[in-house]
Amino acid sequence: MRLRHIKGAEEEIAESPYVVQDPQSLKGRWHEFFGNDNPIRIEVGMGKGKFIMELAQMNPDINYVGIEKYSSVLIRALEKMSEMETPLDNIRFVRMDAEAITKVFGAGEVDRIYLNFSDPWPKDRHAKRRLTSDRFLPIYDQILKKDGIIEFKTDNQDLFRYSLESIPEAGWTVDAHTFDLHNSEMAEGNVMTEYETKFCSEGKPICKLVASRKK
Ligand code: SAM
Repeated sequence: MRLRHIKGAEEEIAESPYVVQDPQSLKGRWHEFFGNDNPIRIEVGMGKGKFIMELAQMNPDINYVGIEKYSSVLIRALEKMSEMETPLDNIRFVRMDAEAITKVFGAGEVDRIYLNFSDPWPKDRHAKRRLTSDRFLPIYDQILKKDGIIEFKTDNQDLFRYSLESIPEAGWTVDAHTFDLHNSEMAEGNVMTEYETKFCSEGKPICKLVASRKK
């Protein structure tokens, strides 16, 4: 994703009612924060938020937290929220690096993790930065409830093949996968992300896998 500094983005994020400003204070208290016992699903690296905001609109009985590292990107999701006639009350955003996720969510507090079009980090020496690497999978293991799942989509076949290996190596099970999501049984109910829409229009096939800790 091309990143550029957006004037005033930090200030706007700091004042936004849709951004959790001190997410560490909510560790183990997210249900209390949302005011219900509905499942909590997170997208790590949500970008401009199209995917997770559409899910939140479709599923009012599920709580969503969109996580994004960069203010210049997160600000776009906030703009979308502000443009809505009725802003969604079942989604909030956190600006943070996924590395710190266990400081923000308690054990088993999250029901599902979405990883969409995560940065591929193609060089071997950067493999640990991939969101499906053995650095991140143990982090997800801590916050995901026992029967929780990870859903991962990418256009990048190398990253996908890598993930089909890294995930089982970390003790997880790949329950389903496809190298051509839109022409597969897994397409039902698919919600497109911003990147997915772009790659699709270029005719690129999309890969998807679902992983859990089932044995
Ligand atoms: N998920 C969106 C989509 O599919 O349209 C955006 C995909 S974009 C290629 C990847 C996004 O993940 C970027 O916005 C980037 O800033 C964010 N990101 C990458 N590494 C991250 C990390 N460690 N923690 C949080 N966000 C991250």
